[in-house]
Amino acid sequence: MSHSLFEKYNIPSPRYTSYPTVPHWHDKPTPTQWVNNLNGHLKDSCLKWALYVHIPFCKSLCHYCGCNREIKKTHDHDKNYIDALINEFKIYLKNSPDIRNHTLKTLHLGGGTPTFFSAKHLGLLIDSILEPLTIDPNDFEGSIEVDPRTTSRDQLQVLFDRGFNRVSLGVQDFNKNVQGLINREQSFEVTEKVTLTAREIGYTSVNFDLIYGLPGQGLEGIENTIEKSLLLKPDRIALYSLALVPWFSPSQRKFKDSDLPSADLKRQLYERSREMLTSSGYVDIGMDHFALPSDKLTVAKKNHSLHRNFMGYTDQNYDIMLGLGASSISESPDMYFQNLKDVKEYESKVNSQELSFFNGHQLSEEDKKIKKQILKLTTRFEVELEESQIAPVTQFLSSYIKDNLVVIDGKKLSITTPGEPFLRNICSSLDEYMQKNTPPSRQFSKSI
Ligand code: SF4
Repeated sequence: MSHSLFEKYNIPSPRYTSYPTVPHWHDKPTPTQWVNNLNGHLKDSCLKWALYVHIPFCKSLCHYCGCNREIKKTHDHDKNYIDALINEFKIYLKNSPDIRNHTLKTLHLGGGTPTFFSAKHLGLLIDSILEPLTIDPNDFEGSIEVDPRTTSRDQLQVLFDRGFNRVSLGVQDFNKNVQGLINREQSFEVTEKVTLTAREIGYTSVNFDLIYGLPGQGLEGIENTIEKSLLLKPDRIALYSLALVPWFSPSQRKFKDSDLPSADLKRQLYERSREMLTSSGYVDIGMDHFALPSDKLTVAKKNHSLHRNFMGYTDQNYDIMLGLGASSISESPDMYFQNLKDVKEYESKVNSQELSFFNGHQLSEEDKKIKKQILKLTTRFEVELEESQIAPVTQFLSSYIKDNLVVIDGKKLSITTPGEPFLRNICSSLDEYMQKNTPPSRQFSKSI
């Protein structure tokens, strides 16, 4: 990627884990509308569904963090939150009893730090959720995001015994100076131990989350991080660009601008990492994700069955994603429904037998069409345009076309290999809300 292309196109863009993206939601459903919509879909005997459970607690604050989390020094509150999650799920079981008739395909624990909870509490939570449901042990994926600093063999074993088979480790960077600047000290040995333990227990897929663009990062340092990651050979690696959004995440003001790599160095960090991963056999799946050739993501990419949702790329496509917990987002083909973000407010609402609605969106027919197109573009790097889209999209992408990053041939829009790093920007050409630029692009981090 040339320096001038990077300068030109490294602009704020959404990650497109949903469409419309959250800042552009405007047509809120009521909780009753959401439940009715859900019940309508549950009548379909072929419906595929998944559960996401958000555990927002962390033991300390990483200074780059942009997640919805709460720092807790004690575990006094753990059981209250677990009770609230169970209560929320009971509300769904009462309002939408047909959930029981559909086999649960996937259960994902995200955060925050799900391993903030003890093995005993994790077991209690999963047993309570799974008890009324049907799962097929041969067709079930349980996955968890772990902070290796707070992960024990017992926690991994308890989850494995309940069908969990995938684990995602927060790693970010292996260099001590970077770890100091981001307030996340985590030795290689700690990451190694959790990786080896998970494999010994029987987990079949290990993912590492890495970040480029962190304060203190340099080329030598990122090479060290990638080399050390390669020693442990995770099945998947998510290599995220530091999403710099200090207006949203004030903790990012704890490091100085001068600690951050320049835009040019950040580009080199990305390119060097990508080169090292692909030359070591990893396949570039798309926005931020790499996987070994044998991994399900790579197979899905080859088979054109790759999907993308709030958790990033997946090899499964679900009709319904039900989100439990503070800030969780549920999704159906027609709606998004987000829970209250504040833990106390969320708990108080679900403990009084009500869904804890905060935000959402009802998709128009136009939204649904564009959602499908953006999904295609993010998973296949090409899409069929409608006749009416050709002129405006060609105009929006005119400089990308001149720079050979995109080709529009009749109705077919294809992203070229040099254009792949600009996937986020190119998706924006289909995004009607970005075209209108409301709300301002300050809501999004830069694309690379
Ligand atoms: S562990 Fe994850 S969620 Fe918690 S503060 Fe660090 S980055 Fe944020």
